Amino acid sequence: MKRWNGWGETAVTNELPENAGVFLEEAIGVTRPPKDAELADVVASVLESRLPEHPLINTDAETRLRHTRGQSFPDWLALRSGNMAAFPDGVAFPQTDAQVKTLLDLAIAHDVKLIPYGGGTSVVGHINPEPGDRPILTMNLQRLNRMHRLDTASRLATFGAGVAGPNLEAQLRAKGYTLGHYPQSFEYSTLGGWIVTRSSGQQSRGYGRIEDMFAGGKLVAPAGELQMPPLPASAAGPDIRQMVLGSEGRLGIVTEATVRVSQLPEKEVFHTVFFPDFEAGKTAVRQIVQADLPLSMLRLSTGVETETTLKLAGHEVLINTLERLLRMRGLEEGKAMLLMGFTGKREIVNAARKEALDITGQNSGIHIGQQFGNQWQKSRFKSPYLRNTLWERGVGIDTLETAVPWRSVDQTLQDIETAIHSGLANFNEKVHVFTHLSHMYATGCSIYTTYAFRLAADPDETLARWSAMKTAASKAIVANGGTISHQHGVGKDHKPYLPAEKGDLGMAAIAMLAQQFDPNGLMNPGTLF
Ligand SMILES: Cc1cc2nc3c(=O)[nH]c(=O)nc-3n(C[C@H](O)[C@H](O)[C@H](O)COP(=O)(O)OP(=O)(O)OC[C@H]3O[C@@H](n4cnc5c(N)ncnc54)[C@H](O)[C@@H]3O)c2cc1C
Repeated sequence: MKRWNGWGETAVTNELPENAGVFLEEAIGVTRPPKDAELADVVASVLESRLPEHPLINTDAETRLRHTRGQSFPDWLALRSGNMAAFPDGVAFPQTDAQVKTLLDLAIAHDVKLIPYGGGTSVVGHINPEPGDRPILTMNLQRLNRMHRLDTASRLATFGAGVAGPNLEAQLRAKGYTLGHYPQSFEYSTLGGWIVTRSSGQQSRGYGRIEDMFAGGKLVAPAGELQMPPLPASAAGPDIRQMVLGSEGRLGIVTEATVRVSQLPEKEVFHTVFFPDFEAGKTAVRQIVQADLPLSMLRLSTGVETETTLKLAGHEVLINTLERLLRMRGLEEGKAMLLMGFTGKREIVNAARKEALDITGQNSGIHIGQQFGNQWQKSRFKSPYLRNTLWERGVGIDTLETAVPWRSVDQTLQDIETAIHSGLANFNEKVHVFTHLSHMYATGCSIYTTYAFRLAADPDETLARWSAMKTAASKAIVANGGTISHQHGVGKDHKPYLPAEKGDLGMAAIAMLAQQFDPNGLMNPGTLF
């Protein structure tokens, strides 16, 4: 069963190695487990539904509670403290496009707000209902999960848009194909969710971002239906698909999506290289992407993230041996770890690996082989489970991200980390902050920062601490000209920072587009703009 107030299946845990606990305590101080609300009490607080009875709508209180929040830090806090501002009045699980249409018609007839729900993995408040007079219906799309067509000649696969990562890959792999989209939320997030949040998977360097994969599909909107043919390319005016990408449920419901798929790779390997410092690693990754080498992943950690990763990895004896080996080669404190993924045809993987390792070698990188990378690949979707363990020990953890051109990477990274530290300074508390660069492009890369801090006994105090850090970091991103999100989207949490990126005219155009697709403002109001 899925956790109602945390990440993942209740049967799965990810424990913290003993030395990692000591490391964290040194970084942020002694922590105390918070007191969580009981499921039964929170279910009892769900108010009477305001929706008309309908065979497609479930108004059971626990089902509504389980669709009330996503996975952002404030979402966790609300769920764990049982302090929710609003609940959906009902949840529908349509199985066909016709049922989606029926539910849309019902929403129009009864002035109901509609929240499309994929996997509920949003980390920026996308799917949270807001208090108000109008009833709210959440539409869980997970039953739209079949592969309708696989056109192997064109390498196009069409799915129901509610299909989650593992199911999508299983259906494709059975035929020898893959999409290759692996966000860390892969276990639950869905194709439709990826499209409308402009998601980026961990191997985006090889397979592309979701916008590179999204070839076409169907959007069912209050104003009608939109078909997007999967053309290889077109010069016929603006690309409507680009309007749907990033629309965050404001235009309508993506019921079906056609994606560009690849044949299963012949070979896939992950290699690790350590550099004496972050600067050397950064020069190497920039040279690798600008040489256009066909890698599927590059992820470079700062010194602090490298140290934290090694501490959290467990396998103490192995890690100590590695550290000793690196010290003998002159790599001490401040060393930076690079993970590189190579995916594809055997000869191309081998050639790319040789070229990439030549470049890392020229930048004083020490190659330690595949063991660490393979371990990372094996456990990559298990890391989010650590968040449950940390919370239960009294440690809050959150991440934020942006993308900037190479020229701005250093300053932006430094300003984000400084902002997080200074955000918490007023509370007389310490925060452990670490960052990596990933999703590399020839012109720049994404910056992904994680911060861990102590939960207060009072949830309002915890929220104040988090808000101070998040606000300071978001302002630092905007001040550096970075995007407010490279991959998580806008939702409700990033909304104040969107006009800085789009401008007044751009914001007005987005609002006009939503007005055209959804004249009565039913679709996910409060998200995006
Ligand atoms: C642990 C963790 C790790 C993550 N790692 C990554 C990562 O590596 N890369 C990344 O890009 N993101 C990541 N995310 C963020 C999140 O997983 C993505 O934003 C994902 O795309 C959301 O998909 P979902 O199906 O869960 O959508 P939901 O969270 O259910 O919804 C997100 C938005 O999409 C809308 N929506 C969903 N389905 C449809 C549809 N069919 N039609 C219209 N609107 C729809 C909703 O209304 C909402 O506005 C992570 C999140 C977590 C919790």
